Amino acid sequence: MHIYEKRRDLVSSVATLLQAQKTVGFVPTMGALHKGHMALVERALKENDIVIVSVFVNPTQFNNSEDLVNYPRTLTSDVQLLSELSTNIMVFAPTPQEVYGEQMISTNYDFEGLENEMEGKYRPGHFDGVGTVLKRLFNIVSPTKAYFGEKDFQQLQIVKKLVEIEKMSVQIIGCPIFREESGLALSSRNKRLNKKQLQASPLIYKTLKQVKADFGTKSVLEMNEWVSEQFKNDDILELEYFEIAKISDLKSIKEKQKDTKYRAFIAVFAGKIRLIDNIALN
Ligand code: AMP
Repeated sequence: MHIYEKRRDLVSSVATLLQAQKTVGFVPTMGALHKGHMALVERALKENDIVIVSVFVNPTQFNNSEDLVNYPRTLTSDVQLLSELSTNIMVFAPTPQEVYGEQMISTNYDFEGLENEMEGKYRPGHFDGVGTVLKRLFNIVSPTKAYFGEKDFQQLQIVKKLVEIEKMSVQIIGCPIFREESGLALSSRNKRLNKKQLQASPLIYKTLKQVKADFGTKSVLEMNEWVSEQFKNDDILELEYFEIAKISDLKSIKEKQKDTKYRAFIAVFAGKIRLIDNIALN
């Protein structure tokens, strides 16, 4: 498996592939790979000749410096996992300087308001960092298709908007959330959960599933109050937000309307570890 650290080396390899009419799938990650990432890579392998997986913990999308420092970094085992999967994978693992040069700053994006909801409210500047790094990575990788998890549904919608705004030709593909048997959505941050936190964590998806079951019969207010109650009674998990939002603009709602698609979104703290999840409601 080839591991690229320098952008110019990757750019030149991709140019050769594209000249030979090969399709290039791209899976951007921050590493500490798990089965959720691998499901994206497998889908990309089915739909493209070559798949490039980037492993880059992007400093500009972290609003919390402690989270950035503690973010798990496991490049050796990430490469091992990918090399066991296929020989058609290339890894891009650059340094921040390689991606940003000397000025590690993000562009201020207007994603038509998508950036101001939920994660955007609680993680100021996060989506500017996401937009900035993805624009740079797309320019380096020149992918035909790029794959993103619905685990970060708001990010997925924002990436589609980014591609539209920047008039890029890459096709953005959303992939379903991969879960533990317990229901916990896989995340690199799960590695930091202790035993008690891990035992408490299935409540997140259990709550989302109940909201989905109640969606047809209960009001939004009733569901919001019920979710708050679930977490008030829990001494390990602390609710940061729960919102039912339209998928089109991600604005949270007070009342349901006909012919509109909704999802429920949740962010929870287990100690200092922040976990997010979401579910389609209709
Ligand atoms: P990350 O390394 O956390 O930045 O994630 C890289 C990509 O993997 C993003 O598109 C995520 O949405 C996706 N991803 C992370 N966890 C999961 C999961 N449990 N199921 C599906 N996709 C995921």
